[in-house]
Amino acid sequence: MSVIDPSKKGETAAHIPLCVPEIRGNEWEYIKECLDTNWVSSAGSYVDRFEREFADYVGADHAVACVNGTAALHVALEIAGVESGDAVLTSTLTFIAPANAVRYCGGWPIFVDAEEGHLQLDASKLRNFLDQRCEESNGELVDAETGRRIAALLPVHILGHPVDLEPVLELGEEYNLPVIEDASESLGALYRGEPVGVLGDMGCFSFNGNKMITTGGGGMLVTDNSEWAERARYLTTQAKDDPVEYIHREIGYNYRLTNLQAAMGCAQLEQLDEYVAKKRRIAERYGEGLGDVPGIEPMYEAEWARSSAWLYTIRIEAESFGMSRHVLTDTLSDAGIESRPLWQPLHESPAHESRCVGGGRIAERVKADALCLPCSVGLTPEQQQKVIREIRKAGEA
Ligand SMILES: *Cc1c(COP(=O)(O)O)cnc(C)c1O
Repeated sequence: MSVIDPSKKGETAAHIPLCVPEIRGNEWEYIKECLDTNWVSSAGSYVDRFEREFADYVGADHAVACVNGTAALHVALEIAGVESGDAVLTSTLTFIAPANAVRYCGGWPIFVDAEEGHLQLDASKLRNFLDQRCEESNGELVDAETGRRIAALLPVHILGHPVDLEPVLELGEEYNLPVIEDASESLGALYRGEPVGVLGDMGCFSFNGNKMITTGGGGMLVTDNSEWAERARYLTTQAKDDPVEYIHREIGYNYRLTNLQAAMGCAQLEQLDEYVAKKRRIAERYGEGLGDVPGIEPMYEAEWARSSAWLYTIRIEAESFGMSRHVLTDTLSDAGIESRPLWQPLHESPAHESRCVGGGRIAERVKADALCLPCSVGLTPEQQQKVIREIRKAGEA
């Protein structure tokens, strides 16, 4: 009998990363087929197959594969009619990509604060702004303060949880504004039983390395509007009007996904339901393991939501927990556990400094007290117990 308990040995030696890909399906086989057949670039059967299977999975009529999620957002905003000088309302508590995409179109983001319960865009603050701070001018809705035309609504489903979308869609209808969902972080999540990303006019997804599924880098634009889908295909392939004679009437982009990446996407998509189930189980175990710790707020799921539990995030009230989020990060790091804060609210970002509808206090508080915990699909129960144990120990110290 070994004197070293192998589970213990592995445990102390192992680094537990925040959120890494899970590659255990048909990835090798499908990518090898691309290599063997020479179909490696932006044409090939896997691109078509990935688009078709993705569209079926989320229940969209069309899906257009893109080089990444940011590119999908850029093209979606352009197709929705966002032009230079326009304003687009989006979440302040999010990764920076959607705000950057607005700027690529020459537009200006106006940020909307989060709600406290699930940290998503607060539709009531959005309504207050549109009802009270905007006015009609020449048949268009403009921001009364800047005179900028409001061109679109861009709610971001963060951390795997949906935005409460119904009131946002109502506002879109009432004010005749296109709604583009940034579902990059929430593939597999349901809002009132429907997949996120297909409830607005267009939806965008990301397949970056840390997202629900990955193609290394990649994105998808989905829509039920066939004209828009066709236009997305046109714009993402350099706007070729006559591909044989090289005639282009517009500026397009080289935004297409390669067949190699799409092959990986097909293999990943086959495993998505299993990923969601595993991530939801991880979230449940954190809830059970940390829910009773003074000063720690676990993640809550709205009764109208089925979260994909992409990134498990706790909030720490330093006084009652006995340690700030900064010190806890270092303590966990010493134990070989990676943890990370959330994003700087975009209304405070030097890259975007702009107004925040609703003030932005909630996003600012979340920036100060939120901590993301390891939640890779492959996180073992033993690893997770270690994370829970280290956090409990830190709080008791
Ligand atoms: C990851 C992400 C994107 C897109 O990122 P890419 O790396 O360009 O694929 C867009 N929006 C949000 C909220 C994201 O988290």
